[in-house]
Amino acid sequence: MQAARFRLSVRVPSGACRSCFRTGTPHTQGDTEVVAAVARAAERPPWRHSIRPAKTLGAMALAPGALVAEAASWVGSATAGRPAPAVTPTQLPLPGPPGVLVTYYADHWRVPLPPGHRFPMEKYAATHGSLEADPSLEGLVQLRAAPPVAMEDVTLVHETAYVERFRSNHMTDPEMRNVGFPWSEQLVGRTFASCGGTVAAMHVVMQQREGIAGNIAGGTHHAFRDRGEGFCIFNDIAVAANVAMRDYGLDSILVVDLDVHQGNGTADIFEKDPRVITFDMFGDRNYPWKTRRKNTYDVPLPDDTGDEEYLVLLRSWLPRLLRNHRPQLIMFQAGVDALKGDSFGRLSLSRSGLLARNNLVYGAALEAGIPLVITMGGGYTRPMDASVSCHTDVYRTAAYRLSAWARTRQKLQR
Ligand SMILES: [Zn+2]
Repeated sequence: MQAARFRLSVRVPSGACRSCFRTGTPHTQGDTEVVAAVARAAERPPWRHSIRPAKTLGAMALAPGALVAEAASWVGSATAGRPAPAVTPTQLPLPGPPGVLVTYYADHWRVPLPPGHRFPMEKYAATHGSLEADPSLEGLVQLRAAPPVAMEDVTLVHETAYVERFRSNHMTDPEMRNVGFPWSEQLVGRTFASCGGTVAAMHVVMQQREGIAGNIAGGTHHAFRDRGEGFCIFNDIAVAANVAMRDYGLDSILVVDLDVHQGNGTADIFEKDPRVITFDMFGDRNYPWKTRRKNTYDVPLPDDTGDEEYLVLLRSWLPRLLRNHRPQLIMFQAGVDALKGDSFGRLSLSRSGLLARNNLVYGAALEAGIPLVITMGGGYTRPMDASVSCHTDVYRTAAYRLSAWARTRQKLQR
């Protein structure tokens, strides 16, 4: 008999915790008891299934008794041979109201960078802020603080030793130089939240098996299993895709990476995994050079590629990808560094070209009924305003499209 798998999330109010990295009130005795009780329930024989206790901040809170009772009831129903849920509807992030774009953010973690550092860390809070301040999005977007990714999730992709080295500030200087950030506790918190936001957004869409959810963070596609580079530490897209395969049994996931830089980490991680198709359009003369990897589909573009050539290509690729691979989930790396004038990019898309790009991706996913997760990505104009406008467009357009799609569907169902 094939083992069924249950995922059990336990909400743990955090302290300065090795598992969840929040500082503040220490964990209470009650929470420890919950975790221990769940672990005991999971291991109680006869037991042919596995329950995976996970500490997930932001999951729905259950009273300790209710949680253990629920765990025990799954054990009971599973051992009695009755169908049991593959994932718990009550423990995972709640889906948004119909037609509302749930979007996570990780800028509740402020990462200190030395003066003059070339990474525009403020762009995340600025994008979050402009979405919040946009009156046209009232009722169309639900912003949520990203929970930290669980160790059991992040280690589906990354070597435990690497995660531990990063978490405990034991990375070597060359390793941190490759990443490009100085180590700090805030960086650890943000990195876990940035990855957790993408995983949570994936759960939001996968529970509904349709729609769009986002993360105003993540898209850190230069992270490999055992190392980071190019401002990327954990590969959130790879982690979320692996969690989706584990928890929802998916066997066809499409990564659409439209950042101007090749997603070498994602390509490397999925090189030998036929369940994940990586499609990547990028500037051929852009970083990475020495560490480039092979995606399922690489579309390298010459310098100064403009809207027209870019959109013609994307328009021809997307339907082919959907037809040939029938993905059950799309992960969209929506970097905006293909914008003309980007200080790291070499392409020449306009803001409206990027808008059209986003619309092509959203339209393809919504029309085909494929759940879609949006992550951030590069955007490095100086000053950062132009990049922030394009990042904001990514989420704003998704909210408009999702809401229009839900309204149309409602009408058709009447
Ligand atoms: Zn980039």
